Amino acid sequence: MKPDPSTKIFDLLQFGEYGDVNPSVCDSATFTFMQAKTMMDTFQGEAEGCFLYSRHWNPSNKYLADALIAMEGTESAWVTASGMAAITCAILQICNSGDHIICSLTTYGGTFAFLYNYVKKFNIEVTFVDITKLDEVKKAIRPNSKIIYTETMTNPLLQISDIPALARIADEHNLKLVVDNTFTPMIVAPFKLGAHVVVYSMTKFINGKNDCVAGAICASHDFINSLSNVNDGTAMLLGPALDPLRSSSILKNLHTLHIRMKQHSRNADYLARKFRESGVKTNYPGLEEHKGHQKLKEMMNPDFGFGGLIAIDMVTAERASRLMEMMEIAGVGYLAVSLGYFKTLFSNSGKSTSSEVPEEIQREMGLSEGLVRFSVGLDNDIENTWQKIKGCLDKMD
Ligand code: PLP
Repeated sequence: MKPDPSTKIFDLLQFGEYGDVNPSVCDSATFTFMQAKTMMDTFQGEAEGCFLYSRHWNPSNKYLADALIAMEGTESAWVTASGMAAITCAILQICNSGDHIICSLTTYGGTFAFLYNYVKKFNIEVTFVDITKLDEVKKAIRPNSKIIYTETMTNPLLQISDIPALARIADEHNLKLVVDNTFTPMIVAPFKLGAHVVVYSMTKFINGKNDCVAGAICASHDFINSLSNVNDGTAMLLGPALDPLRSSSILKNLHTLHIRMKQHSRNADYLARKFRESGVKTNYPGLEEHKGHQKLKEMMNPDFGFGGLIAIDMVTAERASRLMEMMEIAGVGYLAVSLGYFKTLFSNSGKSTSSEVPEEIQREMGLSEGLVRFSVGLDNDIENTWQKIKGCLDKMD
């Protein structure tokens, strides 16, 4: 039987205290105990099923974490107040001052900025590599290396990371492979392919409604317990716990993720082929000529397609802006950052979500100033959407 993350989520029987089919929202910051000893044991992490304080754990967050565990196949998970909280806590939990990280040069701009600018404060060094070149990854390893960090499908160049190969390199050198799977939930299960820690911005596809920011860290029991340890756990001590009301709404949205991913992928595939046919330089991992197409095919769950992200090259930032403004007026979607929303979103990555990356590095990684990243929506009539886009393209010189 092929792995089916959505059935694993559906098979969970999570009820509220009155048999509510949506588990009750636990609207409490703190929890009471009948015996003082149980409270002490809970502080030591030794009382199963007891809750202490919502920065540590909350039943609503636990329901969502359990559903993510079912989806990813990890032993455990912890939900955070943003994707960046998940990324930064996972990294800081693993690294100490003086350690070294190997990171894909192409990563979300916030992650890049954290690793390029911020971790210097802790004397943590970072080498950025072309993550598709495994020799570069191996060459970058040093005695103080602790992490190989990548995104399954990188933002915004949509490169595909070879997770099994990176996991082998990590295992050989006793490193942790940390993978951001924000672009490809359900499509790829990085943990099952050997990654040690999987992080998400749930703001994107997982929630899919653009009504909140949220994140998740999926990993082993040991790793999640260490993150939430009251004495030295990064998540517990930096405190980016997700609000339980939000956990509850994200959990409901997670139950439709499989249907949404299929439709995002179907629509993106359709538009990518149309862009290509009309002579626009098109980057979509579902196109046979995409450098990572074969690799993604080997790793993916084919039921969910090649994802909802397309990047096209309008060559200059001015042309990108003009096209985006016309598309917004034509009703294609919104000129906005972010992704995974039910409406199509488009932005010029070099000037927005990757603007943290210095221009010379943007050029080095091959990020065109005219790159327009599309997060394709759930449009029922994608042919009609294409006609609107085509009308705008026809007006470009
Ligand atoms: N990871 C990726 C791949 C992203 O695209 C983003 C945001 O755009 C993040 C992480 C950060 O997530 P958040 O905005 O939820 O903090």
